[in-house]
Amino acid sequence: MRLRRSRDVPLLVEQAREGDPRAVARLISLVESGDEALPEIAAALAPHTGQAEVIGLTGSPGVGKSTTTNELVRAYRAAGRRIGVLAVDPSSPFTGGAILGDRVRMQDHATDPGVYIRSMSSRGHLGGLAAATPQAVRVLEGAGCEVVLVETVGVGQAEVEVASLADTTVVLLAPGMGDAIQAAKAGILEIADIFVVNKADRDGADSTYRDIQGMLALGERRPGEWRPQVIRAVASRGEGIDDIVGAIAKHRAWLIEHGELARRRETRACAEVEAIALGTLRDQLASVRDGTALPALAARVAAADLDPYAAARELLRSLTD
Ligand code: GDP
Repeated sequence: MRLRRSRDVPLLVEQAREGDPRAVARLISLVESGDEALPEIAAALAPHTGQAEVIGLTGSPGVGKSTTTNELVRAYRAAGRRIGVLAVDPSSPFTGGAILGDRVRMQDHATDPGVYIRSMSSRGHLGGLAAATPQAVRVLEGAGCEVVLVETVGVGQAEVEVASLADTTVVLLAPGMGDAIQAAKAGILEIADIFVVNKADRDGADSTYRDIQGMLALGERRPGEWRPQVIRAVASRGEGIDDIVGAIAKHRAWLIEHGELARRRETRACAEVEAIALGTLRDQLASVRDGTALPALAARVAAADLDPYAAARELLRSLTD
């Protein structure tokens, strides 16, 4: 679904701002596929962004993310807030499964105009999800979402990267999945603002709870620093959801009070600009690969006429000329 004429962008953005779900979906598709209209879309959206609360939710498959997301959407809607959900799968290069996921998720909120739910993968996007996700968040913000929930699968490095795009990061664990240890290894402890031990109705929930509390107790904290909250939940029964919402609000108040919100957003903007710049550079490099500059330099390096660092410098110079 590509935009043939870039002058369609202002209209699409206007329709999205009026809450037209098809325009929102179309804009996110353009973002996801790394369409050439992206710079224009970003420029049109920029004045309408920067206000939403961005919440990251991550955890291993089966831990209860969709169930929790569904309940969080219900809670925020009950409070009268418009909410967007981006379900991001960093490991999946295609959306086949994700589309089915959307359908399952949508059931409860399908007729609610105050909710947008969308799955995303990194197919074809040059900067990957690190570049695409913030743009999709902007689309949802532009469409009037006051809360944007970014849900990622797993506890690996890619998830850490995507989750770190949020103002508040919630990590979901479940008993008996060895998640506490895995989370510690993957650096999740550092990025989590709130831990949720879901499936608290199951055996072993208490020991998972204690494991996390124990690990947090080991970490050193400066005075005034946020101490991650640990919450027990049974998402399938809607239990603990209000506690999660409460902890998110508390964390937000702390972020604002300590100037941390602005700092996090600057860090986020930094990663975003960097990802776009790297994507652009990769694009330009791909184009010279088929041209003459790179083959000529490569021939000289192969013939030991030029060292590879000097060749790389020359190549980069030729890109900016
Ligand atoms: P996701 O893969 O992380 O999105 O996990 P899902 O939300 O799809 O949940 C996986 C399974 O766990 C589903 O069958 C849920 O009904 C179930 N589930 C979710 N929350 C709970 C809970 O608190 N307790 C129990 N016993 N099951 C749950």
